[in-house]
Amino acid sequence: MTDPSILFWHRRDLRLGDNLGLAKARDRSAKVVGVFCLDPQILQADDIAPARVKYLLGCLQDLQKSYTRAGSELLILHANPDQGIPKLASALGARAVYWNLDVEPYSQQRDRAVRTALERDKIEVYTFWDQLLHEPDAIRTSTDKPYTVYTPFWKNWAKRDKAEPVPALDGAIALSESERQRARNAGVRELPELAELGLTWDADLLLEPGENAAREQLEWFCDRPIFDYDEQRNFPAQNGTSSLSAALKFGAIGIRTVWAATVEAEGRCRSDEARQGVETWRKELAWREFYQQVMYHFPELAEGPYRDRWKDFPWENNEAHFQAWCEGRTGYPIVDAAMRQLNATGWMHNRCRMIVASFLTKDLIVDWRKGEKYFMQKLFDGDLSANNGGWQWSASSGMDPKPLRIFNPSSQAQKYDPEAEYIRQWVPELASVDTECLISGKISPLEREACGYPQAIVDRKVQVKRFKAIYAEVKR
Ligand SMILES: Cc1cc2nc3c(=O)[nH]c(=O)nc-3n(C[C@H](O)[C@H](O)[C@H](O)COP(=O)(O)OP(=O)(O)OC[C@H]3O[C@@H](n4cnc5c(N)ncnc54)[C@H](O)[C@@H]3O)c2cc1C
Repeated sequence: MTDPSILFWHRRDLRLGDNLGLAKARDRSAKVVGVFCLDPQILQADDIAPARVKYLLGCLQDLQKSYTRAGSELLILHANPDQGIPKLASALGARAVYWNLDVEPYSQQRDRAVRTALERDKIEVYTFWDQLLHEPDAIRTSTDKPYTVYTPFWKNWAKRDKAEPVPALDGAIALSESERQRARNAGVRELPELAELGLTWDADLLLEPGENAAREQLEWFCDRPIFDYDEQRNFPAQNGTSSLSAALKFGAIGIRTVWAATVEAEGRCRSDEARQGVETWRKELAWREFYQQVMYHFPELAEGPYRDRWKDFPWENNEAHFQAWCEGRTGYPIVDAAMRQLNATGWMHNRCRMIVASFLTKDLIVDWRKGEKYFMQKLFDGDLSANNGGWQWSASSGMDPKPLRIFNPSSQAQKYDPEAEYIRQWVPELASVDTECLISGKISPLEREACGYPQAIVDRKVQVKRFKAIYAEVKR
């Protein structure tokens, strides 16, 4: 009889390095075996993005190799977790199941069901907060409430000590052949190809999947671009941001490792600008944690607006306008460039996410939830908390007290794409149009026709006025 194993259930922590729950499992026993559950409730949902699943499968493939190198293995289950995990744990005679916690409402409800089933079978459960530098209850206001506004959250968050990375899994013991057979009987299968899940995504991803690629990307970013981040992060034609969002979403990199890299970079700063770059990037990491902690404390955000007055907002929801926005055919060059980048790559620059979200909600008067869902259907870094937070921020329906945030596409383009490089890259039919016209959007009807580029679908001055009138009415 071999030692009972410990099952480590991976979810948004697809790595062996700096993985808190996994390190705790390894402290307890060398016989640690990983499992990932391909959950039909997630994979068959109507907001699944093929690019995201491609990244996920790539990470799992990489993780399987890492497990083999560490002496153990990663099992792939095709099952509902509340049945599959307890069945596998029992089949292996596992003593305990370990996992890292998540903030999303579905994850919490799923985890409760899995925990109940395991405890019924007398299998121990151990859980940890791994994906955040500070767990959701750690940072609270002076009146012991969760923060609903970012800036005071950031101030409190920034001054707290941050944990060091934890050791990677190593020297693990593999399953015996009979245990492996029992695992197969309990539903363990080969890792599927994307097509086997009924999805296709042919384009390269902005970031290669897997732990090594994420580490290399972090090294690249913290070696140089982080020092110029404060300035460069706003220019969509520049490679000025980290491109780590999908790695952070799926946990291909540990957040403690990311923080340690910023500390190391800070030590190499030789100017105030460089220090500001590091500080501004840390603020983005704090936005990520802010949105996760609000989702944890206010799960109703996942269903709709935080602000009451937005609950009955009479969105116009013109379907033709929405389709034109999705396809990058609004006739507003910077908006169309951004939407085409999203459709072609599964990613969009942050500045442009704000521009297109404002355009959809304030100029087209389309419900932000339609945009939120479309983003989730496309983004390879699509993440409920960050996406919902970004959309509610843009729609002015969220936590941030500022009521109306309206982005003018042409002044945004003037400031952040002054040479129209980004517009020309993604709207190539406009390549020969004068730069000034591209960024102002003032392209004559004749020239639009000659280029095969649509006329503006709305007059935004009229629309924004209408939006403000509706808003005033709703407020009253
Ligand atoms: C409407 C809208 C929707 C968004 N949807 C998502 C989403 O689904 N998934 C997602 O990860 N980010 C989302 N963001 C935030 C942001 O656009 C992306 O995180 C960023 O563009 C990813 O590129 P990067 O990794 O190069 O970021 P960097 O600029 O290098 O930032 C570093 C990391 O900080 C985090 N971060 C940065 N900005 C934000 C932010 N505003 N909110 C939360 N986290 C942030 C991300 O994890 C990011 O990887 C959204 C923003 C808006 C306005």
